[in-house]
Amino acid sequence: MSVSFVELPTRSVDAKHLLGRIHSFESFGTVDGPGTRFVVFLQGCLFRCKYCHNRDTWDLNEGKLYSVTEMLDEILPYIPFIDASGGGVTVTGGEPLLQKEFICVLFKLLRQQGIHTCLDTNGYVNLRDYGKELDKLFERTNLVLLDLKQIDNDKHILLTEISNEKPLEFARYLNKINQPTWIRHVVVPGYSDDLEDIKRLADFVAPMKNVEKVELLPYHKLGKHKWESYGESYPLEGVEPPSKEKMRQIKEIFNDAGLATQL
Ligand code: SF4
Repeated sequence: MSVSFVELPTRSVDAKHLLGRIHSFESFGTVDGPGTRFVVFLQGCLFRCKYCHNRDTWDLNEGKLYSVTEMLDEILPYIPFIDASGGGVTVTGGEPLLQKEFICVLFKLLRQQGIHTCLDTNGYVNLRDYGKELDKLFERTNLVLLDLKQIDNDKHILLTEISNEKPLEFARYLNKINQPTWIRHVVVPGYSDDLEDIKRLADFVAPMKNVEKVELLPYHKLGKHKWESYGESYPLEGVEPPSKEKMRQIKEIFNDAGLATQL
């Protein structure tokens, strides 16, 4: 896939001038990490997940530019409420690792104030090129939410148009640095609910001592209207959310592998 993203001039730039491309933010999120959270949605994603409910975050050149300082100004008024809930700040997207430097400085300033930081990512990053930068980022990241979408590579490509090689390598890296992590798996009937694949995924994750739990997210159609607003047909037309029984079976497989789960 060709990448049209123009890297923003971030090196040697202070927080006032370091820019991030922001899709939107939510002051009181409750589903992206512990407690109540200020959630920042970064613009841009290279995956093309068929079930994506944030289709409008894909374009690498859309969104609004904020400096780190401007982003902090948005966040800080909410911190007393968020702190009281045991929450913090979550950066998601889109794919936030496309804007690593912005997050790295934002998280540094948040951690200096004792604010809990969480990164929600699809794990698509080139560790060979960015290993040192990532080490620095994760020194200031309290929790990672890592989306592992499909352990079978052919099915991963069918679902996302991208190989799962980098996300799996990234999962191993998080384990190596002992980064507290929750694995997320979206259960899409016909695409990521095969019980053999689930067993392989559970076997891959189970030895990783950094993984605190696995969140199982049933596919839903809430983002369908966004595809239609781009004049595109919804790729999962006719696919219904998974049954409670299927979710129970999947949960049992993870639990049998010794992993805590959340539905
Ligand atoms: S990784 Fe997330 S934002 Fe990107 S296409 Fe997939 S679901 Fe959408």
